[in-house]
Amino acid sequence: MAGGDVGHVGECDLEAFRGLRRALRDLAGVVTEDTRDVSGDRDLARAVAEVNAAVRQTAAWPQLEVVGGELVRRTASAAPGVVRVLAAIAAEGVELFGGERRSLLRACYAPGCVLYFVKDHPRREWCSPGCGNRVRAARHYRRVTSREHG
Ligand SMILES: [Zn+2]
Repeated sequence: MAGGDVGHVGECDLEAFRGLRRALRDLAGVVTEDTRDVSGDRDLARAVAEVNAAVRQTAAWPQLEVVGGELVRRTASAAPGVVRVLAAIAAEGVELFGGERRSLLRACYAPGCVLYFVKDHPRREWCSPGCGNRVRAARHYRRVTSREHG
């Protein structure tokens, strides 16, 4: 699928992606016990059903092709490109939330951030260097202002 044409993306497709994003956020919120305001009502059963439905939309199978005399393994699917992309994202969600990396998932508590990240390093606390910089700047600002105001 890399570099392939996704094809026409309609309003229904966008709605499907928004629904999947909401479901993945709900799952991340539950797993990380997210206490941020952006993580409101979470419906675990609905989120699981939505992710599973998205994965099921694509039936893919391995195929052999001959390219320049060499045998190559390709993945074929009857689903439109946009559906394959949706299903691939949902499948990554199944891998993440159903696998061991789930325990490494964290909410980013940097000011204004709504994202989640996989804590792939013991000292990692933020989703991105930008969030880390914002937190350090805010701490510095608090130190400076508290000194100025006694
Ligand atoms: Zn962040």
